[in-house]
Amino acid sequence: MSESVDSIVTVKAGKDKQLIRHHPWVFSGAIEPDSTLLQSLKETVVRVKNSYGQFIAYGWYDPESHIPLRLLSWEEHIVPDSQWWIDTTIKSVKRRFEYFGTVQKSTNAFRLVHGEADFLPGFAIDLYGQAIVVIISARVAWAHRHVIITTLQKLLNPELIIVQTDTGFTRSEKIPDTTEYYSKGNEVSALPNNEPIMFTEHGLYYSFEAGKGQKSGHFCDQRENRIKMAMYAKDKRMLDLFCYTGGFTLQALRKGCNMIDAVDSSGAALDRLASNIQLNIRKGKIHCNSDKLVTFHQADAFEFLREVACDTYDIIVLDPPKLAKTKSQVEGAQRAYKDINRLAFEKVKTGGLVATFSCSGSVSREQFKTILSWAAKDSGKEIQIIESFSQPLDHPIRLSFPESEYLKGYLLKVL
Ligand code: SAH
Repeated sequence: MSESVDSIVTVKAGKDKQLIRHHPWVFSGAIEPDSTLLQSLKETVVRVKNSYGQFIAYGWYDPESHIPLRLLSWEEHIVPDSQWWIDTTIKSVKRRFEYFGTVQKSTNAFRLVHGEADFLPGFAIDLYGQAIVVIISARVAWAHRHVIITTLQKLLNPELIIVQTDTGFTRSEKIPDTTEYYSKGNEVSALPNNEPIMFTEHGLYYSFEAGKGQKSGHFCDQRENRIKMAMYAKDKRMLDLFCYTGGFTLQALRKGCNMIDAVDSSGAALDRLASNIQLNIRKGKIHCNSDKLVTFHQADAFEFLREVACDTYDIIVLDPPKLAKTKSQVEGAQRAYKDINRLAFEKVKTGGLVATFSCSGSVSREQFKTILSWAAKDSGKEIQIIESFSQPLDHPIRLSFPESEYLKGYLLKVL
């Protein structure tokens, strides 16, 4: 047993309930401050005990993190040493390949590690064909990135591993705002070539520039929802709001959508959408006139929708970025979700569909449904839920960690 596990952190009386149920986060207010030893601990594995001195778990203690204690192993005989990080990564990757290696051959882009839901705090790791993108949002992940990179390289032998720190957490976690590149396992100062990263999702081709896109480059969490939505797109006129590089647009084109307005505030995202359309035409995946069916609008989605004439679209897709990044932003986000959904309900044709999403973890599914009901009331429309949308199986929801559930949505029929 490593020496550091002799270090003990005690959780205050009454603060251990969630932790015993395997919730992994311990904030500073829950930690007993009296131990003088605590002051000397820094970035280390500790034995976590309750106020009666009973073992709860092993955790990673780092007072510089905004979550200073992160629980890793609840088994007293399993110490989270380097081998634990290796084993836990391998297990997570194997879980994904159970599905994507066999069942889903038409997709080679998916999430290998979904942070705490896969027991690896602060790591979101996405596979894109021959490349892997690692997004780091916690100091504990920054400290362990090399062991994870080596493990991924050995397991999957990718051409390229890109490691990016999540700008939403660099300040609170005191980690550098940076991107690192590893070619065949060795760190390199720049990209080995300028070829875009190519991958497939449900048979369609996509590409993005390494290290330049939003998040890890693509939003693979919407994979299944794109398919569900596209089932209704044949011969329809669609508005894809917050389209990014065209996940919804491309699947709708494949299913015979007639005409699409694609709206995003990012010009780079729209350029990439245009090249993704060309790529799929070249590969024979969508009709050769598909590029004539899509109009690109670099615009604020809220303003764009306000200007749209009523009864223009059969389908409106609303997939905004995370509007509530923290709990304190929930109220403002509720107003924004209500506004944009009300506008969509007002503008879509009678009998038309609105595919609406929220990826804000701090807005629950129930809250989102309530917001939609307020928007429905204000628009004077009756609305039916046709489909429920969620996050796919490569973004698992761990029951002991409710924070891992974040993506929710509905396909709504506006009467
Ligand atoms: N639907 C996309 C993912 C959307 S991500 C897909 O399937 O891949 C959210 C997108 O919203 C990003 O591309 C971002 O550039 C865009 N965005 C953020 N704020 C916006 C705004 N106010 N108006 C329009 N687009 C916005």
